[in-house]
Amino acid sequence: MKIMKFGGTSVGTAERMRAIVPLINTGEKVIVVLSAMSGTTNALIEISSALYAGNIKEAGSKIESLRAKYLDVVNNLYTHEETRQTGREIIDNHFNYISGFINGSFTRTQEKAIVAQGELLSTTLFHLLLQEQNINSALIPALNFMRIDKYGEPDIYYITENLKRELENYPDTNIIITQGFICRNAFGEIDNLKRGGSDYTASLIGAALDASEIQIWTDINGFHNNDPRYVENTFPVRELSFDEAAELAYFGAKVLHPSTVNPARDKNIPVRLKNTMEPDDPGTLISRKQTFQDYKAIAAKDGITAIRIKSDRMLMAYGFLRKVFEIFEVYRTPIDMITTSEVSVALTIDNPENLPDILKELQNLGTVEIEENQSIICIVGDFRPETTGSAPEIFEALNTLPIKMIAYGGSPYNLSLLVDTKNKVQALRLLNKHLFKEQK
Ligand code: ADP
Ligand code: ASP
Ligand code: MG
Repeated sequence: MKIMKFGGTSVGTAERMRAIVPLINTGEKVIVVLSAMSGTTNALIEISSALYAGNIKEAGSKIESLRAKYLDVVNNLYTHEETRQTGREIIDNHFNYISGFINGSFTRTQEKAIVAQGELLSTTLFHLLLQEQNINSALIPALNFMRIDKYGEPDIYYITENLKRELENYPDTNIIITQGFICRNAFGEIDNLKRGGSDYTASLIGAALDASEIQIWTDINGFHNNDPRYVENTFPVRELSFDEAAELAYFGAKVLHPSTVNPARDKNIPVRLKNTMEPDDPGTLISRKQTFQDYKAIAAKDGITAIRIKSDRMLMAYGFLRKVFEIFEVYRTPIDMITTSEVSVALTIDNPENLPDILKELQNLGTVEIEENQSIICIVGDFRPETTGSAPEIFEALNTLPIKMIAYGGSPYNLSLLVDTKNKVQALRLLNKHLFKEQK
């Protein structure tokens, strides 16, 4: 069994939705995970924000313009008037639900319920398309099996048990459709796996069912060597190891949700990135296989805060770092990068939610400085100590830019740097020019 996840652009128009039918209808058993049509999640977030702020008029007009867009999709998606009518009823159901919030009170929990309408709509409309084409398929609600615990982590046992129970209803159906991104939380309320979370849904399902492959279908030919949104002349990397892909996704490669690789790696299930616009392109295969190459790929993550703690008490003392780490543990704040000198330690976090409390406690240990608006640049390549000559190019490339921190030696295939966010794009471009001269 394969899992096939199609992202926002891959279901972004009636035409694109029709184009994925032959990709999934191959006679093989597949679980099809769909995102919301591109632009929908953003629009639903804007609608929720307007409702939350009490801007009824603005919310109302945004709801109606999104509804009109969907009515247009329905007209183009189906061939028969009868199916179009069913499509319009589906749209009315969802949009009447959304506009039902206009005159009531509106809380943050309801925001999640509104945002979930995007994936609920795309899957229902797509299921109807298959029905119109007489292709046997079933739609199973992600809200019946996808669940996170009180820490926001997926509840693997619950997911596996409930997903299998859902599937027992359809032993002879090859195409099973479900929603990406959406889930329930520990209180049973509608929640989600954070932006871009449909990738994560696909890998959680793949791991729960021991799938043979998890396919992430998107709008680009696989994982590129650098961020194509900022850098010209990027190219697909054909193979990555789980560890390399996890590192790049965690450090900002938008093409994969940061947690996608973990469930697949745990179960050794290959993840394949494919382009819906060019289905014959091989894309990128992410697997256990580790190959080494001087430089493979670069990614960058913004929104980083650097924290420097300086203390004479660190000098030749043991237990100092434990005290530092404990503070971050108490506030459930992951540390991304860390470097030390004899009397100081510098580290970075990407979630500043509890920063004021963390700082208060750190100040008991020494002098604390923070620096916001930083970006981590993650370079994946060959950094094994026995192979020489890799790293100098990085520093030659960046010799005109201030580097704030360097993490080298923690892993044989990764080197990370911290730069001011305002220098990030230039750093990515310089690295692209100097590290990938001979590759294409
Ligand atoms: P989807 O809607 O299919 O989930 P996303 O927009 O989330 O698609 O991810 C695909 C986009 O990620 C690409 O169009 C590209 O702009 C961006 N991207 C950023 N870094 C990379 C990278 N290293 N390789 C490929 N795409 C990347
Ligand atoms: N629709 C959600 C988002 O835009 C999830 C996804 O596309 O993966 O973030
Ligand atoms: Mg995505």
